[in-house]
Amino acid sequence: MKISELFYSIQGEGLLTGVPSVFVRTTGCNLRCKWCDSGYTSWEPEGEHLSLDEILARVVAFPARHVVVTGGEPMIAGQIEDLCAGLRQLGLHITIETAATVFKPVACDLASLSPKLSNSTPWQREGGRFALRHEKLRLQPDVIRAFMERYPYQLKFVIDHPSDVDEVLSLIGQLPEVERSRVLLMPQGTTSEDVRERGLWLVEQCKEHGFRYCPRLHLDLFGHRRGT
Ligand code: SF4
Repeated sequence: MKISELFYSIQGEGLLTGVPSVFVRTTGCNLRCKWCDSGYTSWEPEGEHLSLDEILARVVAFPARHVVVTGGEPMIAGQIEDLCAGLRQLGLHITIETAATVFKPVACDLASLSPKLSNSTPWQREGGRFALRHEKLRLQPDVIRAFMERYPYQLKFVIDHPSDVDEVLSLIGQLPEVERSRVLLMPQGTTSEDVRERGLWLVEQCKEHGFRYCPRLHLDLFGHRRGT
């Protein structure tokens, strides 16, 4: 499999925030979010080929009980089902971080679903060459439902403008009954300052709708850098 990075840190976002976790980041993505914070897995994908045995050996070398399989888009990575099956055999708790545009029946303990709102579409970036494809693919309610039916889940949205919350409400209206405590709204940004600025109005939206505010702990602790 082509892996962009594999490291040990703490989970910075979501219901398991603060839990020491090994991160296995596949490279390659079927979307091109304009604000993607891991462009080395999407806009300019890079990584090294590792066998499944090598990946599992590196994971097990860390003293963690939790592993996060992320990307890029891990659901389009070759051998993703085998990788998750191997992690399950190691007895690890598996979080899958996915934009939920492609479903595969992987071993998973928490499906961290991050459907992309219209704020993600790269109409300007690189002359807009990925915009139409991204726009067509970014929301796949049937795929989101498939994950929700099969696994414990969280729905995590990147919010750029207050009006984005209307899109969240519209989407969850198309899904089976969604527990609002599992809907996390996360401010867009790559610095603590950006996140705090948006966070101040986003907290009010969370209070109004009963959603969970999602801090970005790794940004506060480490800043925007790889391997954290
Ligand atoms: S889905 Fe994730 S990895 Fe892919 S472009 Fe969007 S933010 Fe980047």
